[in-house]
Amino acid sequence: MHHTDPHCIFCKIAAGDIPATLAYQDDQCVAFHDIHPKAPVHLLVIPRRHIASLLEVEAADAPLLGHLLAVAARLAREHGLTAGYKTQINTGHAGGQEVFHLHIHVLGQPQ
Ligand code: AMP
Ligand code: ZN
Repeated sequence: MHHTDPHCIFCKIAAGDIPATLAYQDDQCVAFHDIHPKAPVHLLVIPRRHIASLLEVEAADAPLLGHLLAVAARLAREHGLTAGYKTQINTGHAGGQEVFHLHIHVLGQPQ
């Protein structure tokens, strides 16, 4: 598995090669605002490593996946989604996925 994909738009965002409105970043992940928000708060949380989708995930990825979810929860809190919010992961063409770099959508209305 490659660490990054030179043709992947989310790899480019993670590398800072194309702009995005970043909400958070650390050594494992990056979070940014969706360019076409479907809710007042619409964030995407992605691993820095290029994982195309959950179809490619292995048992060894469990700590990374847990980290992504924990970051999503913290960002939701920090963006005022204290009454709750939606998370979504679209997987594969059949799952409606459009960008093939794993991402967690965080959607909600601040309180
Ligand atoms: P999906 O793959 O269906 O889960 O959705 C991909 C999401 O990425 C959509 O909500 C897009 O609006 C969003 N998106 C695509 N390109 C960008 C970009 N350059 N910056 C921020 N969000 C993006
Ligand atoms: Zn990628």
